[in-house]
Amino acid sequence: MSAENWTQCPVCTKKFIKERAGLYGSVPEDIYLSEVDRVERAINAQNLREDYQIGIDLEGNFYVKYCGHCAICSFHYEFQTGGNVLPNEERAK
Ligand SMILES: [Zn+2]
Repeated sequence: MSAENWTQCPVCTKKFIKERAGLYGSVPEDIYLSEVDRVERAINAQNLREDYQIGIDLEGNFYVKYCGHCAICSFHYEFQTGGNVLPNEERAK
């Protein structure tokens, strides 16, 4: 695929938000502050690599391909769709 992007993983983000919520009142204040800082960095980390491609080929096939994979957890998602977009009279030629 041609394009690449890095963004936040929805699975990791949800996990770390839950972890952050559980910190309050569970550890001494100095540890709490450093742990919140660590978890905040984890929440904002861009661990999800996205590869995608969109276009139309010479046969008239329009396509959208997407693949997302997290470098930290096992989250992986792929999506692909498309179809021939040529007018019927052009397909017969
Ligand atoms: Zn993840």
